[in-house]
Amino acid sequence: MKKWEIVIGIETHARLLTRSKIFSGSSESFGAKPNAQANAVDIALPGVLPVLNEGAVECAIKFGLAVEGRIAPRSVFARKNYFYPDLPKGYQISQYELPVVVGGEVAISIGEGGDAVEKTIRLTRAHLEEDAGKSLHEDFNGKSGIDLNRAGTSLLEIVTEPDMRSSAEAVAYARTLHALVCWIGICDGNMQEGSFRCDANVSVRPVGQETLGTRREIKNLNSFRFMQQAIDYEVQWQIETIEGGGRVEQATVLFDSDTGETRAMRSKEDAHDYRYFPDPDLLPLIIRSEWIGGLRARMPELPKVRKRRFMKDYGLSDYDATALTAALDVADYFERCVAAAGKNATKSCANWVMVDLAARLNREYLPITRAPVGAEQLGGLIARIVDGTISNNMAKKVFEAIWSGEGNSADEIIEKRGLRQITDAGTIETLVDGVLRTNAAMVTEFKLGKEKAFNALVGQAMREAKGKANPKQVSEFLRKRLADLS
Ligand code: ADP
Ligand code: MG
Repeated sequence: MKKWEIVIGIETHARLLTRSKIFSGSSESFGAKPNAQANAVDIALPGVLPVLNEGAVECAIKFGLAVEGRIAPRSVFARKNYFYPDLPKGYQISQYELPVVVGGEVAISIGEGGDAVEKTIRLTRAHLEEDAGKSLHEDFNGKSGIDLNRAGTSLLEIVTEPDMRSSAEAVAYARTLHALVCWIGICDGNMQEGSFRCDANVSVRPVGQETLGTRREIKNLNSFRFMQQAIDYEVQWQIETIEGGGRVEQATVLFDSDTGETRAMRSKEDAHDYRYFPDPDLLPLIIRSEWIGGLRARMPELPKVRKRRFMKDYGLSDYDATALTAALDVADYFERCVAAAGKNATKSCANWVMVDLAARLNREYLPITRAPVGAEQLGGLIARIVDGTISNNMAKKVFEAIWSGEGNSADEIIEKRGLRQITDAGTIETLVDGVLRTNAAMVTEFKLGKEKAFNALVGQAMREAKGKANPKQVSEFLRKRLADLS
């Protein structure tokens, strides 16, 4: 049986975080009443002219810088002609021969920890374009409605080379790209609202064959899980089709998440079907190097750079550094937490942010920016664990108390509740000696070699101290005393 190689290229539409549309002054905010955000330009009244939104261009430049692509000094808007009810102009303004960003790359990593494999996905281009409106097939007495709120909203379409070889690589790429556009602040990444949608072009070819197989394009994947399912199904379908003596025809397909199947929507149109030509209403887009330089100076430190810095400066493992730089807000929170806790508490901060805080936020569906325990508060709490004021167990209670608003800082709650750990050597000695006196039977058992008796004695001491004695000191001193006794 032949072995098959999977080939995938991805096109992504990222909705840009501009306040108004790409060629008109209408608002871009999501969820408004149908057609409440569509002005004369968006509904294509005769005689209107598009005016390019500078903010959208800045987003494209930032993206180009982030992926180290070439930012074209001169790019051109083109009309992509087709008919559809949600496209009143009869064409979409896009970029074709001269896109704003050419080339660039995105580094992905597949698998976790020590088994992770790195790979670079080359980008073909990224271009600016407007979105179309929406047809609403809800109940309008058997008719469909047209909502033009989305018409003209600003998009950056990001196209890869056919570099991915499995659904896992495709998903890793999509996740990395998603994190990146959010990180640099050009897209809100909200996939339910359609702010980040991917089309996956999939083909298969016998291993060793040079030319690419015929691809089918799966449209509008708006979740990473669906992307994985859709590609896996599509690959299986193509292999079975070819092995069964059939041929794969170039087509555009839709993924049905209910059945888990892909289904042909239309035979694939080619570029020439769209009769692209430069839009005579818009001047070429000229980007001077000063503009790029100004934006470069304001770019945030990129995730991969920050990850390396976290490993170097804070001694974090690859795994921890990856997790803490998955999103800008998390990375910022972590660094503010470390600043408050002290540099000898980095591992502790990493654990608290990734485990305890993350779990608590998940439980209440809160983003980290709205965490009731702020970074400085958590750092202050961790500082008290590190300096021995409270135990880890106590810290969890203090964390809850800050979370529920009982106090503003760990110190305040430790004082108020009298949680300060007993670390004074004299007090601990007195405590242990008392326990030894009143538990003679356990001492005897210990002398007979029963290690369990030792733990029972520690437990007894901790109970008498209401959990406040430093357990490490208690057990150390107990060992010493028992050694003296025998
Ligand atoms: P369009 O879909 O607009 O016609 P392209 O032909 O440039 O645009 O291809 C779009 C995407 O499809 C790119 O990401 C490209 O890498 C990918 N692609 C092209 N040919 C194949 C193929 N045979 N198999 C898989 N992906 C492909
Ligand atoms: Mg396409």
